[in-house]
Amino acid sequence: MRGVYPDKQGLATTPTPLHLLKRLSKRLGGPNIWVKRDDLTGCIASGNKVRKLEFIFSHIIDEGGDTIITAGGTQSNHCRAVAALGAQLGLNVHLLLRIDDDLERNGNLLIDHLCGAKVSYYSREEFTQLDKLYEHWTDHYRSRGLKPSMIPIGGSDAVGIWGYIAAAEELSEDFKQADIRPSKIIHATGSGGTQAGLIIGSLLHELTVSIEGFAVCDNREYFIDKIRADINAWQQSYGFNVDVMDSQIIVNDSYKGPKYGRASRDVFDTIQCVAAEEGLVLDPVYSGKAFHGMLEELKNGRYEDESDIVFVHTGGIFGLLAQSNQLQFFS
Ligand SMILES: *Cc1c(COP(=O)(O)O)cnc(C)c1O
Repeated sequence: MRGVYPDKQGLATTPTPLHLLKRLSKRLGGPNIWVKRDDLTGCIASGNKVRKLEFIFSHIIDEGGDTIITAGGTQSNHCRAVAALGAQLGLNVHLLLRIDDDLERNGNLLIDHLCGAKVSYYSREEFTQLDKLYEHWTDHYRSRGLKPSMIPIGGSDAVGIWGYIAAAEELSEDFKQADIRPSKIIHATGSGGTQAGLIIGSLLHELTVSIEGFAVCDNREYFIDKIRADINAWQQSYGFNVDVMDSQIIVNDSYKGPKYGRASRDVFDTIQCVAAEEGLVLDPVYSGKAFHGMLEELKNGRYEDESDIVFVHTGGIFGLLAQSNQLQFFS
């Protein structure tokens, strides 16, 4: 398998550990809950995005790119990782950020600025014309003699998918080491690339698992289409023919909460509880919603036939810090 991966920049600290949440699993009396610690892929460039970006940056550098344009919400983990890695590799970074609510001038946005990214802000309405914005800025940089490259939201494209194909290979090794044969891998889904990569990777590496994405926005149908499109783009770009059935794209959209970026009180309670019991810090935008959803499903008996389930902690700590006002320690 190794020979088939495209080149990557060594940017993520991998392999990441697989930890058993002993106390929580015991207290709930269900399957053992294991956590793949992809929150530990780095410090400033931590979380799931760096796995995709290792491949994406390599591709851009190969093509002679010197300026990266990408987009997301103002607390985008993806944009923060691009800002940090761009600075690390000496590339220019321009972030196109959508203002959803009040601007939280800390968390990811603070790191974006610290790492010297150029930041442009757009209203929700302006952001619906993202393709035009990309085009505008691409022309802008080209006319100045630079070589701009665009990375789509979340780094979910044919190249980025390799990150979680490689992660699936890592997981197969983790399962051997821990001597477990889990049949479920659970994680948060936001732009679909992590799930697309894990689905393909689990087939290529013969992990007999189902991949369950917990949506943090949009809905099940949206993500099934998006993941299907990402998988097709990857197959076309790299000439693979992996048979992914519709029944293998599993998305649970029951726990996305009020809207993207906003979580209910229950999710904050779960975050607090898991941090205090296990020292594992989740975030309210992605991993906390998915973990909370997983615990609810577990309490409803969904995993009662399982002995081990695996949660991929995709990171997001800076997004939690931006919402510290939602935690009631200082009131
Ligand atoms: C982006 C992100 C996700 C979702 O991953 P996608 O590949 O975009 O679906 C999950 N968790 C965190 C912390 C993220 O930043």
